[in-house]
Amino acid sequence: MYLCDSCRSKPATFFQRHTGKKLCKECFENSIIARVKSQIERYSMITPSDTIAVGVSGGKDSYILLYILSQIIQSDKVIGITIDEGISGYSRREVFDTVKRLCRELGVECIYISMKEALGFNVDDFMKQYLEVRKLIPMITSISACTYCGIARRRILNFYARQIGATKVATGHNLDDEVQTYVINILRGDIMRLIQLHPLSKTHNPKLIKRIKPIRSIYEYETSFYAYLLKYPFQEYECPYIETRPTLRVRVREILYEVEKLYPGAQLNLLEFLDSWISCLIDIQIASLPLCKLCGEPTSPGRDICKFCELIELIKKDQKVLNKKPLQ
Ligand code: SF4
Ligand code: ZN
Ligand code: ZN
Repeated sequence: MYLCDSCRSKPATFFQRHTGKKLCKECFENSIIARVKSQIERYSMITPSDTIAVGVSGGKDSYILLYILSQIIQSDKVIGITIDEGISGYSRREVFDTVKRLCRELGVECIYISMKEALGFNVDDFMKQYLEVRKLIPMITSISACTYCGIARRRILNFYARQIGATKVATGHNLDDEVQTYVINILRGDIMRLIQLHPLSKTHNPKLIKRIKPIRSIYEYETSFYAYLLKYPFQEYECPYIETRPTLRVRVREILYEVEKLYPGAQLNLLEFLDSWISCLIDIQIASLPLCKLCGEPTSPGRDICKFCELIELIKKDQKVLNKKPLQ
């Protein structure tokens, strides 16, 4: 039996690869909470007057986020928003019932939103329609379910957070997710998105609620162990679209894991490096974001219609093509 490297009194149950320390349950938990608090303080993520809308997916990371927030701020300042993406075999009633129960146990109110009711198309509807369009127009842009799912979820979170008067939207992105997104934006040469990822970035439109990611310095292997310690009920079903995830993200994830295996702590170092480097660029952001001509929500500079409306217009193309066909 090994003793914890931190308190030197209790048996170690966890090997923290990136520090090389063996930790007991309590010291592991203290290390996670301390790092989350440090991110929150360092980037002034939460102020006493904030109400935080938390995107609760039913996955372990958003549960960890909700658990930690409910420990460090008043639970009535935290509201969970759970989104039913409408994915057959994955978005199941039991998952939402479990999410509601977990929120109740943490003393956090939870709102359930159906993507179909909120936006007209859930992920399955979107993909079905998109595949129909692709049959008619084979050269159409390739779109994965995750692209629509991500954009739709962000839209719903922002919209409902605004409706309930939340001042921040918190998501459960962990260190691995955050570093992958940083690297993807570097590879794409997308400096504006790179800046937007930084915790100090500004929102540039009053309709956008500031997003925060309090567990962004916690590795995924740590959130998995923490979820196990908290007896979080892991989902047995995987999203059927996971295989169609954008290939660049999958490759970046694999490469970063290889590097991390050889040099434990590499991803954390990269996050720290990029955070401090990008902080010098925060002030060169654009003055204000334009509003989409179709839905009135903020969109990126130079765009007339937002990415969400663009995707919806794209899947309506089959109607347009069919309408142009001469009558038999
Ligand atoms: Fe959505 Fe893709 Fe995640 Fe499935 S794998 S829930 S489609 S982002
Ligand atoms: Zn200890
Ligand atoms: Zn729009």
